[in-house]
Amino acid sequence: MKIGVLALQGDFAEHVAILTELGADTIEVRLPHDLDGLDGLIVPGGESTTIARLLHRWELLEPIRERVRDGMAVWGTCAGAILLANEAGDLDREGLRLMDIAVERNAFGRQVDSFEAGLLVDAFGGAPYHCIFIRAPRIRDAGPAVEVLAELADGTIVAARQDNMLASVFHPELTDDHRFHQLFLDMAAGDVVPIEIKRTARLASP
Ligand code: GLN
Repeated sequence: MKIGVLALQGDFAEHVAILTELGADTIEVRLPHDLDGLDGLIVPGGESTTIARLLHRWELLEPIRERVRDGMAVWGTCAGAILLANEAGDLDREGLRLMDIAVERNAFGRQVDSFEAGLLVDAFGGAPYHCIFIRAPRIRDAGPAVEVLAELADGTIVAARQDNMLASVFHPELTDDHRFHQLFLDMAAGDVVPIEIKRTARLASP
């Protein structure tokens, strides 16, 4: 299995370390030809406006879209989730627009308002997953094909999946709990992991 981590900006190194530990052949992606032969691609956290700018500059947008439409799995964490969203209102240029979610950037406030929470993720069962939110967006709306994987106590969606695409607004690469990375590897392997879906679509207040 070969997994790429978009390495234009942000915390890609942490993802590379975990994927390597889990046994995946992992490469850093900076140019379109780096996408060749990948089973999955992680778009990491960082600054979505900067990553969007670099995606345009290195002409990566369309090649990534094509590969995902051909079945390559993709996972966006935090800024990466913003870049995957069909709707990301205040992003100053077009992102990948692949997933049927609408996100609101910096939805929980500024850097000092970053927080952590243990959330039950139905797909994993067992112990709560420790989620680290750093100037995180929220998923404020999701289309009917989107499965909600995790939400905060007030119903805010913080992790979701649509076919071969995964989005989380927190940072699984900053914990020792690798269950999200394992889920993504299973998706990249083409295993459709059955998930107990809480609901498929949700309209939250804007
Ligand atoms: N606030 C950042 C943005 O809007 C995302 C922060 C992160 O990835 N931790 O791009």
